[in-house]
Amino acid sequence: MVSIESVSRRFGEVRALDQVSLEIRQGEFFALLGPSGCGKTTLLRILAGFEHPDSGSVTLDGADLLAVPAHRRPVNLMFQSYALFPHMSVAKNIAYGLERERVPKREIRERVDEVLTTVGLTGLDRRRPHQLSGGQRQRVALARAIVKRPRLLLLDEPLSALDKKVRAEMQLELKRLQHEVGITFVVVTHDQEEAMSLADRIAVLSEGRVRQIDAPVPLYERPADLFVADFIGANNLIDGVVTVDGLRVPEVGLLPCPASPAAIGRAATLAVRPERVRLGGDGGLTGVVRDVTFFGGTTRVAVQVAGLDRPLLATVAGAAAVVVGDRIRVDWSGADGVLLDGS
Ligand code: ATP
Repeated sequence: MVSIESVSRRFGEVRALDQVSLEIRQGEFFALLGPSGCGKTTLLRILAGFEHPDSGSVTLDGADLLAVPAHRRPVNLMFQSYALFPHMSVAKNIAYGLERERVPKREIRERVDEVLTTVGLTGLDRRRPHQLSGGQRQRVALARAIVKRPRLLLLDEPLSALDKKVRAEMQLELKRLQHEVGITFVVVTHDQEEAMSLADRIAVLSEGRVRQIDAPVPLYERPADLFVADFIGANNLIDGVVTVDGLRVPEVGLLPCPASPAAIGRAATLAVRPERVRLGGDGGLTGVVRDVTFFGGTTRVAVQVAGLDRPLLATVAGAAAVVVGDRIRVDWSGADGVLLDGS
């Protein structure tokens, strides 16, 4: 539906976007994910028409989108701050865009009622924004964005102002809503868990470049490079040389790694998920527990193995039966690691 090809944008010396290409499919929930400054907001603003690329093309249903002024694009942007009018009621806030387009009054009333039901705000139409909770204000902003029935809804860090519990609720809500209204959503976030829980597909950006585009599970299981492996899910990253028997790490020995005949003899970085690291088995390495952090459902244990520059992180279910200072075995199976090109 949306095709972005070789889009670049510079601000002075900063390459905010550098030859970015990606496709967004009709009806999907797409996330732009990356650390602060990676260019995701710039890309969103280009889609909305508030920013123009220096080069490259953007099409919507095959037609040039860049030639269309912002206010005539079938695209709506929901801001981080929600930008509700404080002196207007919920219903007025939602109706505002339709009134400006001179939609007949009766139709406005019907569409506002319908969208109030969709976002779960029935009965709150006469309230002012300050009489609502953060989550409710968020729903008003959403209602206002979808009432105009855009083809594309852009959301800039939509949940960042909400506390953790409301945030989790709104994540579910956003997904349900997107499904129900069938509008294509593009969300910008720096929070990998949020991107994973919301999106059908995610583009990971760093320094203005696309690093990987994938569905959440393959992105998590098979990061394409070191940046993605480090950014998504705090992998253990271990440098070594690939051999027939495993990854040879100086002063440590041979570590389990996936069989990769093509990589034998090459320097590489092994990425291993903390939840794949087993503690207390009988094979593998020995280390000393440096830190134990209890998160409720899981516990993260940091184990220092002599010769490795960083402690290995292991995530275990529930509470861990270890304390700082324990000597403990650490292990994982080779097939659970991912080999990435060495630096
Ligand atoms: P954040 O999550 O912090 O909003 P981001 O990934 O959305 O970051 P952008 O806002 O797209 O990043 O910015 C990308 C880069 O371009 C940054 O280095 C930023 O400082 C720079 N930049 C963005 N807009 C402008 C501007 N109008 N003038 C100058 N530099 C800009």
